[in-house]
Amino acid sequence: MTYQPTITRPPEGWPDNLQALNTMTETPPTHVQDTTGDVYKIFGINKKSVSLNQSHKPNLTRLSPNKIESLGQVVEQSEPAAEGEGGHAERDHALLSASGANRWIHCTPSALIETRYEDTSSDAADQGTAAHELAEHKLHQLLGEPSTRPVSDWHDEEMEDHTDTYADHVMAELALAKETNPAAFLSIEERLDFSHIVPDGFGTGDAIIVGDGTMTIVDLKYGKGVQVSAENNPQMRLYALGALARYGMIYDIRCVRMVIFQPRLNNVSVEEINIDELTTWAREVVEPAAQFAAAGQGELTPGDWCTFCKHSAQCPALQAKYFDVIPTDTAGAPEAPDPDTLTDDQIATIVAHSGELKKWLGKVEKFALDQANQGKKYDGLKLVEGRSIRRFTDQEAVAQAVENAGHNPYQRKLLGLTEMTKMLGKKQFDSLLGGFIEKPAGKPTLVPVADKRPELSVATVDTVFQQLDGKEPA
Ligand code: SF4
Repeated sequence: MTYQPTITRPPEGWPDNLQALNTMTETPPTHVQDTTGDVYKIFGINKKSVSLNQSHKPNLTRLSPNKIESLGQVVEQSEPAAEGEGGHAERDHALLSASGANRWIHCTPSALIETRYEDTSSDAADQGTAAHELAEHKLHQLLGEPSTRPVSDWHDEEMEDHTDTYADHVMAELALAKETNPAAFLSIEERLDFSHIVPDGFGTGDAIIVGDGTMTIVDLKYGKGVQVSAENNPQMRLYALGALARYGMIYDIRCVRMVIFQPRLNNVSVEEINIDELTTWAREVVEPAAQFAAAGQGELTPGDWCTFCKHSAQCPALQAKYFDVIPTDTAGAPEAPDPDTLTDDQIATIVAHSGELKKWLGKVEKFALDQANQGKKYDGLKLVEGRSIRRFTDQEAVAQAVENAGHNPYQRKLLGLTEMTKMLGKKQFDSLLGGFIEKPAGKPTLVPVADKRPELSVATVDTVFQQLDGKEPA
């Protein structure tokens, strides 16, 4: 959503009777911007003031002419695809976006390189946007502010539950803040400008609780593809810097609490950072990286941040990272030697990279197929018809024919957990079937030591059999 002024303050000032403003444009104004840049929804225009329909500032219900900068409308704005977590569409088009900050801070040339590729939308991004709009509506309702329920094909019972939980969580954070600071207030879906640190940098904060002491920023992540942590999260920190620029002069903010709320993964991740640490990070890490990134300078630097980079299928640095760990033959082509012949170091390196390597190979294959479908030829490759499997042309006719022959064509099958949850809704699912759910131990998996799961102890001859009389176990 973006504010578009239709009537700005005339040089001679506003007319004596403000109601005249209603007839000055074809579309009567629905919103107003004050002299500090804040935008409010209008409840009505009286002769001497504009009354506000919703205000995130306590005790602010109307604006007098000397506080009004312009009147206008808030309009929908198209949004780019979601970043990373596969959910919330980052509502900005800045070259150095908050959502991509982890990437351009670590790999500074990536921001300009990515502009070669088109923005694409996805179901996950659209679903995330629908969840955010619903969550925003619920927060307005909980604040007692008028709000129209959004309409979307993505709304389902699961989204209802998760947005309820999110809204409850934000209200609980607000209540907590009010315990120490009764004047604390909640700002919803606020545009946060951090362009004093990153050229043209801005983003949208889902929920910001402002007051003296600790400011809290809650970010709803509706995706479930990647678990997002609030720790050292550049996107959250840039939002915090934007909010600090806005409110730091008015409130005595000493600390920022950043909360990632990712309900579909039961993930609530929190980082608290004091203002000195935050501003030092901005000065020492972000500002220099932003200068390099804006100019397209620096080294291609592969890492975790490559996952959602649009250049990843073609990036030579990423290719080198993966192929460097794979043994090659004398001609330099990747080899697949028998694991018995690999050294321990080679095995450890290959297994540690295998997950991302498989994903990357899939991306390269998809990229090459897309190109080939558009007519591109690759040496040694050709486009052919893939394998297909036989299928029934008319399922009803098949069932009828089998029944006529005296057989039952259907198999009775219990719905899986996901389908059952969708059918019953989470609350009924939990109350009805909670006692029938178990989570068996997972199969042993070899992962990098940085993985958060505790290490399994493996039963060996040494651990199972105890030494007797100083003798070594057999
Ligand atoms: S894929 Fe290449 S350009 Fe993109 S972030 Fe990784 S190293 Fe940088």
